[in-house]
Amino acid sequence: MDMSALRADLEGIRIEDNDKIVLQKSRDFYWYSPLLKRQLDHVTGDLVVSPRNELELIRVLKACFRHDIPVTPRGTGTGNYGQAMPLSGGVVLSLAELNDIREITPGRVVCGPGVICSDLDKAAREQSGQELRMHPSTAHTATVGGFIAGGSGGVGSISWGGLRDFGNIIRLRVVTMEAEPRVLDLTGEDLHKVTHAYGTNGIITEIEMPLAPAYDWVDAIVGFDTFGQAAAYANQLARQDGILTKLISVVSAPCPFDYFKRHQKFLKEGQSVVMVMVAAHSYDAFCAFSARAGGEIVFDASTAGDLKGLPPVFELAWNHTTLRALRVDPAWTYLQVLYPFPNQLELAEKMDRMFEGELISHLEFVRFDGDITCFGLPLIRFTTEERLEEIMDLHNANGCPIFNPHRYTLEEGGMKQTDEIQLAFKREADPKGLLNPGKMIAWDDPDYDFNSGEVWLFKGLKQAS
Ligand code: FAD
Repeated sequence: MDMSALRADLEGIRIEDNDKIVLQKSRDFYWYSPLLKRQLDHVTGDLVVSPRNELELIRVLKACFRHDIPVTPRGTGTGNYGQAMPLSGGVVLSLAELNDIREITPGRVVCGPGVICSDLDKAAREQSGQELRMHPSTAHTATVGGFIAGGSGGVGSISWGGLRDFGNIIRLRVVTMEAEPRVLDLTGEDLHKVTHAYGTNGIITEIEMPLAPAYDWVDAIVGFDTFGQAAAYANQLARQDGILTKLISVVSAPCPFDYFKRHQKFLKEGQSVVMVMVAAHSYDAFCAFSARAGGEIVFDASTAGDLKGLPPVFELAWNHTTLRALRVDPAWTYLQVLYPFPNQLELAEKMDRMFEGELISHLEFVRFDGDITCFGLPLIRFTTEERLEEIMDLHNANGCPIFNPHRYTLEEGGMKQTDEIQLAFKREADPKGLLNPGKMIAWDDPDYDFNSGEVWLFKGLKQAS
């Protein structure tokens, strides 16, 4: 790679080449997975380039195309699967400075990809009484562009479903990786070309998202003696048409008391909990429902007094639950599971019983294809890679599909099949295959058999793992 020729072409654009900083900016939360940690620990880029606007970004892409240098886009690197890690080295393209909020109007916002989700929410709330329909639990650190290219849903998905459901993104402006990069505006069906594509087939430079009315959300935690009771309560709460919620998460004992350290004083040992964000105007109804359903509200942010030092409950939910557990006990890892409607409770309880002692159940209730069901992000006590695979196989065999968080490729972490739409767009928008190499198996290895049971290893990983 001729980095000096590249540098000459990038005169005037911010470049970072300090090895330590480049290494730091070449990482994400891949270490959640002991498998990814082993495979990707050595991965680093050669330079971090931070364009300040779309024109500079186009110059970067043009120059990298000319010199055949791989480009891996990056928001703030909170992805969990090594999505933002440059497997072939080259340029780490930071989008953090494309962070202007361009327009807020009734029902929509237009912004750059580098805006931090909570900053966008704050601006929308202050200027228009609106908020994002959904955000990841990393709202305070993650970019909106990274959420769209690497995330799936989160806080708000109980009302609005997933990020890639029709209507949850309005428009994306995307720059291609060609000799003369094109700037495309994608809407409707075309959005599927680049959403959750890990930036393998275009760089998102402008985002138009729908907004929802903003409410004051009250954080609450409801305690139960058993996981089954907590899951049944959450399943019923999610179906209360008149109670507006933004988050309904179930975490089984002993996780809440042992790992939610800053909330520990509100929790009882051995209690399983349901964490809820409920609109202030629904709060009385929520209390009445909880009393009737036998739930004890053990924490209520509106009456708890001094909240200093307490994170919002959404920072105990989604992938934050795993983070809280890992901070206390690094032997934990996790899975991503779907418990399909209408058997979600039965399946979640079956898995809870099947792996007693090595799995702690964690459910996130969501709207999915018009029904209410739950995803699981169970904690798994890691022993060996073989046992982890076995646990995943048993989930799949029991009708609980796994979205494998221990893989860095789009396909293995997703539907285990080629996404023809994303592949076709990559052929068109990244003909040299320079964008985020190694993340799309269909590009590197078109004949790969997804049923082979093998772990796919990108041959271009800069060093052998
Ligand atoms: P990065 O990690 O920097 O990038 C993510 C992917 O997008 C990478 O493949 C990168 O190459 C690509 N990319 C980034 N910007 C662009 C761009 N402008 N154009 C093209 N490609 C781009 N995810 C959820 O969906 N919901 C959650 O609730 C959630 N909770 C989390 C909690 C924790 C504690 C952690 C560690 C992770 C969580 N995640 C969650 C995963 C992650 O936070 C989200 O995916 C997040 O939105 C990523 O944003 P980022 O700015 O960090 O993106």
